[in-house]
Amino acid sequence: MNQILVVGSLNADLVARAPRFPQPGETISGEDLRVIPGGKGANQAVAAARLGANVSILGRVGNDNFGDFLLENLKQNRVDSSLVQRDDSSTGTAIIIVDSNGQNSIVLSAGANGNVSIADVDNSPFTNYQLLLLQLEIPLPAVLRAAQRAKENNVRVILNPAPAQQLPDELIALADYIIPNETELSLLTSQKIEDIPSAESAARDLLRRGARNVIVTLGSKGALLVNSEASKQIHTFKVEVVDTTAAGDAFIGGFATSLLENKSLEEAVRFGCACGALATTKFGAQPSLPMKEEVEKIISTSSASLRTSL
Ligand code: ADP
Repeated sequence: MNQILVVGSLNADLVARAPRFPQPGETISGEDLRVIPGGKGANQAVAAARLGANVSILGRVGNDNFGDFLLENLKQNRVDSSLVQRDDSSTGTAIIIVDSNGQNSIVLSAGANGNVSIADVDNSPFTNYQLLLLQLEIPLPAVLRAAQRAKENNVRVILNPAPAQQLPDELIALADYIIPNETELSLLTSQKIEDIPSAESAARDLLRRGARNVIVTLGSKGALLVNSEASKQIHTFKVEVVDTTAAGDAFIGGFATSLLENKSLEEAVRFGCACGALATTKFGAQPSLPMKEEVEKIISTSSASLRTSL
């Protein structure tokens, strides 16, 4: 039985480092191009699989070399790709320029990700899973349908509302766990997030709209867990940050895997924080996603402790 189903995006990240961003019409020299597997759906699938979960992903890639590359990568990471369709569109790509300050400039082409449909979701079995992971890099109707089918089949839903956008209450109410970062929470609730109290107030807005548990990821400040019973800030781990790409995806993979092991919500958030922290210590999306042993090591050697903020 596969424990986790991800319905989401698969991208090839084409990354070039350059001393600075080129001006319009200008050509500058950069380091050799690196092609790195990415896409929030695939990142979260691989994150959970590296931590030991059985994971399937439903999505679309093109009939092209990048599609072959992404499917091979899923195989190497033990993610079941039997629900990934080949498509006439190009495989989704993110063209990323990184300057000498580590700033990113990105052009995202949805490609085949933009064709994931309600029919794709309806044609796939939902009975074999315990958890569904959703993000927003595929069309919203497919995301909503997947959440509905999960509910019909008693599958718990984790919704990562990224990239940031507003959402219908119908989708929010289907989320057992909604996990936004501060930017996403701000856009979802039209509220300014400046500190822990403002994050908590916005999270409570999502609870009123039907979400059962809200977990706000706060970068180096860890995460805030808000539900009808509690509001707790959970601290993260001190690390040497190299590149924060995929920290959120690592957090979600870790959180999901920990829930499957019947850990408490707080423990699952703490495990997610350890995964997110470790992901910031390496360059790129999927290459930075940690293995279980690394996570267990940082948790056992760190002095970070849980703190109840309210
Ligand atoms: P996103 O990548 O979606 O913006 P965050 O930046 O909030 O998400 O990161 C997700 C999680 O990764 C955080 O909740 C935190 O636990 C961990 N994390 C991110 N940045 C750092 C950091 N600089 N130091 C330690 N942990 C971090």
